[in-house]
Amino acid sequence: MVAEKDAASNNPEDKNDVLKSTQTVIQLALEKLGYSDEVFELLKEPLRMLTVKIPVRMDDGKIKVFTGYRAQHNDAVGPTKGGIRFHPNVTEKEVKALSIWMSLKCGIVDLPYGGGKGGIICDPRDMSFRELERLSRGYVRAISQIVGPTKDIPAPDVFTNSQIMAWMMDEYSRIDEFNSPGFITGKPLVLGGSHGRETATAKGVTICIREAAKKKGIDIEGARVVVQGFGNAGSFLAKFMHDAGAKVIGISDAYGGLHDPNGLDIDYLLDRRDSFGTVTKLFNNTISNKELLELDCDILVPAAIENQITEENAANIRAGIVVEAANGPTTLEATKILTERGILLVPDVLASSGGVTVSYFEWVQNNQGYYWTEEEVEEKLERILVASFNNVYEAAQTRRVDMRLAAYMVGVRKMAEASRFRGWI
Ligand code: GLU
Repeated sequence: MVAEKDAASNNPEDKNDVLKSTQTVIQLALEKLGYSDEVFELLKEPLRMLTVKIPVRMDDGKIKVFTGYRAQHNDAVGPTKGGIRFHPNVTEKEVKALSIWMSLKCGIVDLPYGGGKGGIICDPRDMSFRELERLSRGYVRAISQIVGPTKDIPAPDVFTNSQIMAWMMDEYSRIDEFNSPGFITGKPLVLGGSHGRETATAKGVTICIREAAKKKGIDIEGARVVVQGFGNAGSFLAKFMHDAGAKVIGISDAYGGLHDPNGLDIDYLLDRRDSFGTVTKLFNNTISNKELLELDCDILVPAAIENQITEENAANIRAGIVVEAANGPTTLEATKILTERGILLVPDVLASSGGVTVSYFEWVQNNQGYYWTEEEVEEKLERILVASFNNVYEAAQTRRVDMRLAAYMVGVRKMAEASRFRGWI
């Protein structure tokens, strides 16, 4: 199991270091697959990492200089692909880890991409619309030389949305002197976005929950679901689970959680949430995020940020299945504890791959200039996610490893093979 090898890291600080954790699992996956150490040397860090300074004129007339990153993990399989996050806690290390996770996701759902990721240290909750536009355009100007429809294709991530993608696409098209919809995905429909992209991550998570529930003999109808995070993934997921007949008994945002053992009124909460997924501020009797994670339920979905289930609270998790809609919400120690307790954990690199899958569909539609219906997108997403879930599940059974390690083994293979054929290793 993953955590045996994790003893390599005895420094307590490393335990929440998402880059170190992902490197640990990659190394183990490569060993299990019989690859040499050089392959790990190549894959443990992104091939390229660009740090940029973005001067932005704020509404008060002053200039503020923001720091941004773009990491390109590995482009042996194809152009790199992955979102851009706007968040005050963005770090270089985190962006690197996120780019590696994107490579794994693309490998797991078998897309012709490697992984990339971007981030800007900023708090969009405190910025005006115009400031955000200037920042988005400034970022694209700063990274324009290393991105492009056949090089590296960005997309939305935490606190970025289709409007931000639209500004970025427009800025890139001006630089490129061509209309370049395939430069970025997650765009509004009228600018070449795809049907189903906005709900894609949550749809993918829903499919994984359904498949995992079948394996565990849990009936979705009436199942008690807790969702941490009410952003793009969490809010749509709560809605889909509610519509499927499950009882969503807990949800949360960055400020706290809501709990009702009889089921929350999800449509009302969706209606009242702001564009950053905040809703709990409207209520008095909230619970903490810590309490929310420990609620008695059948299905727990961390859909917020990293390092939420750790060795401190893993023993208190009372769910049959944990499905990671966020990137990196469970530490390796916690993965081990949950697995030993018989809880089925569906890892982020599999469960949250619906977003990039429909981003790929969007890019394909942009490239061919011919657009698909919502039904076509959904049917293709369903087929890919069901096959990917079962592929990883079976790998876990045959190799007798947990689903995180199995997912890494599936995800890393194509990248390692492509790098070998290219003569890189
Ligand atoms: N940001 C999303 C993720 O972490 C989607 C990336 C994409 O669509 O390229 O998977």
